[in-house]
Amino acid sequence: MMDATALSELSALLGSRLITAGGDLRSHGQNESWFPETPPDAVAYPETTEEVSRLVAICARHGCPVVAWGAGTSLEGHALAFDGGVVVDFARMNRVLEVRPGDMQVVVQPGITREALNAELRATGLMFPVDPGANASIGGMAGTRASGTTTVRYGTVRDNILALEVVLADGRVIRTGSGARKSAAGYDLTGLFVGSEGTLGLITELTLRLHGQPEAISAAVCAFPDFAAAVDTVIATIQSGIPMARIEFVDETVARIFNAQAGTAFPELPHLMVEFHGSDASAAEDARRFGEVAESFGALGFDWASTTEDRNRLWRMRHGAYRTCIASRPGCMGMVTDICVPISRLAEAVAETRADIAELELVGPILGHVGDGNFHAILLLERDNPEELARAKTLTRRLAERAVRLGGTVTGEHGVGVGKKGLMPLEHGEAWEVMARIKRALDPDGILNPGKVVEVSQ
Ligand SMILES: Cc1cc2nc3c(=O)[nH]c(=O)nc-3n(C[C@H](O)[C@H](O)[C@H](O)COP(=O)(O)OP(=O)(O)OC[C@H]3O[C@@H](n4cnc5c(N)ncnc54)[C@H](O)[C@@H]3O)c2cc1C
Repeated sequence: MMDATALSELSALLGSRLITAGGDLRSHGQNESWFPETPPDAVAYPETTEEVSRLVAICARHGCPVVAWGAGTSLEGHALAFDGGVVVDFARMNRVLEVRPGDMQVVVQPGITREALNAELRATGLMFPVDPGANASIGGMAGTRASGTTTVRYGTVRDNILALEVVLADGRVIRTGSGARKSAAGYDLTGLFVGSEGTLGLITELTLRLHGQPEAISAAVCAFPDFAAAVDTVIATIQSGIPMARIEFVDETVARIFNAQAGTAFPELPHLMVEFHGSDASAAEDARRFGEVAESFGALGFDWASTTEDRNRLWRMRHGAYRTCIASRPGCMGMVTDICVPISRLAEAVAETRADIAELELVGPILGHVGDGNFHAILLLERDNPEELARAKTLTRRLAERAVRLGGTVTGEHGVGVGKKGLMPLEHGEAWEVMARIKRALDPDGILNPGKVVEVSQ
C-alpha cells in the first residue's frame, strides 16, 4: 500500500486526475502479455512536464514506485506495477507541439499514438514511419525501442528520435540531443533513455525525424515451397539493392489460420508480404525486379494489391495476425517470442525453432520482420495450464540460447520488461552489471519502474 502522505500530496497536485479506486486501477493492471492482472495503487494523468516533475519529486521523497504508461501494449509485463505505486498515464500529454516541415521534424508529447500522429501529419506530406503493429504511443515506443514492419527501410524508433525531454528520478528535467541531424557532443543520452523502459527517466517530449509520404506504393503477397526459399529471396533482394519498404514472413500455420478465421484462400505454404515505396515508375520497377527474384526461388501465387483498399486489407490482416492466431484456439492466451539474428542465420534459426515447437508439443505459428532477421512464435497456451506454460518457458529459453549462439539478440523489438530479464546475463555477461550501475547512478532509490530490465542488487 502506498504511503498516505504521498497520496494526499499527489492528490493536492492533480486533483481528480489522480485515481485511487475503481476500474481505472484494474485497466492499468492488465496487459497484452501472459502476466497476471496487477493493479497499481494509483493512476495519475499529468498534463504538463511541470506536473510530471513535481509528481516524481513527491514519489522520490516517499520512496514510492513510478511506472510510466503509454498505450499498455507492451508484451513482457513492462508497464505493470508489480511493486505497487503510481502508474503515470500519458494519455493527456498527447499533443503535437511543433511541425518543422523544412527540417522534416516534429516535436510531440509522449502520449500521442503513432496513428494519431500520422493523421495529424497527413496534410503536410510527411509521415512518421515506425510501425510496431499495435497503435502504441510514441513515448511507449521510445520506452521499448520499438520497430516493426517498416524498419527494413526506415529504421527503428531509435533511428528516428533526435532529442528528448526527460524527467529524472529526483524530479529534475533534462534535455538530450537537439534539432541537428548529428552531434558529437558527449555521451549519447538520447540513446540511453530510448529502450530504458521507464527505468531511468520519464520522457515528456520527443523530437522526431519525419519522412516524405511516398508518391506511389505497391504491395504483394506470394507463397514459397519452403521457408528457406523465402529467406533466400529476401537475402537476394537486399543484395541486389531493391529498396523494400516492408517484407514480412508468415508460415503455413498462419496462412491456414488466416484462411479459417479471415476467409482468405492462401495456399497453405510459407508466404512473404512485401511493399515498395517510391514514384509511380520506381515502385513499379522495384516490384517487377522483386517478382523476378522471387520467381527464381520458386515463388508462386503472386497477388498484387494495386488499390489502397487492397493494400490496407493486406496489412490489416498482417497487423491482426496476433489476435487472429489467439482467436484460433478459443480460451487461450498468447506468449510471443521475439529473437533477432543475422539474416544469413535466419533460416537455420526458424528451422530449429519449429523442431522445438513440435518436440515440446506446443502450438506456435511463426511470423516476423524477415528483412531484419527478426521473427516471433506466437505460443497459444491454455489458461491455467502450468505444465504447458512450463514447456513454453523451456522453448523461450532454448530460443534465447539459439539467438545468442547465432550472433543475435534475445529480443529484437519487444524489450525486456520482467519476461526477458532472466535472459539478460546470457546476452550481455558483464555488460548487464554495467547497466545496473547506470540504473543505480540515475535512480539510486530504485523508484522508476522497479524490477524491470536490470537487477539492482547485483
Ligand atoms: C498485436 C501486437 C503487435 C506488436 N507488434 C510489435 C512490433 O512489431 N514491434 C514492436 O516493437 N513491438 C510490438 N508490439 C509491442 C508493443 O506494441 C511495443 O512494445 C510498443 O512500443 C509499446 O508501446 P505502448 O505505448 O503500448 O507502451 P506501454 O506498454 O504503455 O509501455 C512500454 C514501456 O515503456 C515505458 N514508457 C511508456 N511511456 C513512457 C514515457 N513517456 N517515458 C518513459 N517510459 C515510458 C513503460 O513504463 C514500459 O516500460 C506489439 C504488441 C501487440 C499487442
